[in-house]
Amino acid sequence: MSNVMNTYTRLPVTFVKGEGVWLWDSDGNRYLDALAGIAVCGLGHCHPRIADVLCEQARTLIHTSNIYYIEQQENLAARLASLSGLEKAFFCNSGAEANETAIKLARLSGHQKGISLPTIIVMEHAFHGRTMATLTATGNRKVQAGFEPLLSGFVRVPYNNLEAVKQVAVNNKNVVAVLVEPFQGEGGVNIPQVHYLQELRKVCDEHDWLLMLDEVQSGVGRSGKWFAFQHSGIVPDVMTLAKGLGSGVPIGACLARESVASIFKPGNHASTFGGNSLVCAAAIETLAVLEDEKLIDHAKELGAFMHEGFRAQLADMDQVVEIRSQGLMIGIELARPCGELVKRALEKKLLLNVTSDKVVRLLPALVMRREEAKLVVDTTCQLIKDFFKH
Ligand SMILES: *Cc1c(COP(=O)(O)O)cnc(C)c1O
Repeated sequence: MSNVMNTYTRLPVTFVKGEGVWLWDSDGNRYLDALAGIAVCGLGHCHPRIADVLCEQARTLIHTSNIYYIEQQENLAARLASLSGLEKAFFCNSGAEANETAIKLARLSGHQKGISLPTIIVMEHAFHGRTMATLTATGNRKVQAGFEPLLSGFVRVPYNNLEAVKQVAVNNKNVVAVLVEPFQGEGGVNIPQVHYLQELRKVCDEHDWLLMLDEVQSGVGRSGKWFAFQHSGIVPDVMTLAKGLGSGVPIGACLARESVASIFKPGNHASTFGGNSLVCAAAIETLAVLEDEKLIDHAKELGAFMHEGFRAQLADMDQVVEIRSQGLMIGIELARPCGELVKRALEKKLLLNVTSDKVVRLLPALVMRREEAKLVVDTTCQLIKDFFKH
């Protein structure tokens, strides 16, 4: 019997060592990792620069309270500000907490404007986390079922549908913000129309709403830009980050424009662990490695290479509904539920994921080489072909 709570369906394997895009299990078998801890290990496993920084920082100072200035936190916030154009950062420990921060910021902004029941527009098929507020914001009944009562103050519209957002404005005067993923991850790797964010920006400006982007999965280089919103030329008011930010140490961030961030005053929000020296040192180094190794351009090129590989090899298969990708967020939608492909891939020593029942999802590390990517594409295509044969 395991003493760990039964909240995950686990595959029968334990990894004990990692290097780059490779993992080894406790029997010494080697696996090609095309999931990277669900978009966390962007630099691959145990990047030497991350390992060195963690050891060095652990020997110097790991944690002090946020009631003191923390040098690494200041430096990380400055770096994120210069990369994103969002001047202020709040640090926490996960994506859900980053989104909680955004939600609290939006609600407080509403109260400041005299809106006593502030409401946030969220999307169908969205995923924002598992805390009570973020599971309420999530557009997936499976995540919510059994945890009612959910929070009030959210209205849901279809993703990639501007008319639906504009329609809310007509009869709801309580809206204060739109919370949206630039590209949906858990919802099935959904890529909206090209001008979606630009149009959302306009609607938000017109109504004095905050545009809040959940870039927990799409951020930190994965989409082929530092942040996914940079494909669209707009700047959001608020953006949340987590997964890829710390190369595996728990760190989340809620970034905001100065004018929005200033709504928070001491006492409004806090986190004991948030942004301590250790995790911020890892995040600073993660951003530095991404830049030094030119990994973001590489992600864009490698993503295009893999997309083309899938397109070519799966072109004649009616059972392949659509191949969607943005940088190294890659989804292949199949005609029927395909959850068992995860296990079949594991047997072939390949790690991938299925989301939204029918979408094979790949989130490889940004350091993956072309030969490795080719192996991922070839093996995945073979798995998909075999899946429809038997
Ligand atoms: C994973 C994810 C989250 C939740 O992050 P946690 O660190 O698991 O709390 C939120 N939003 C998006 C878009 C995600 O992909």
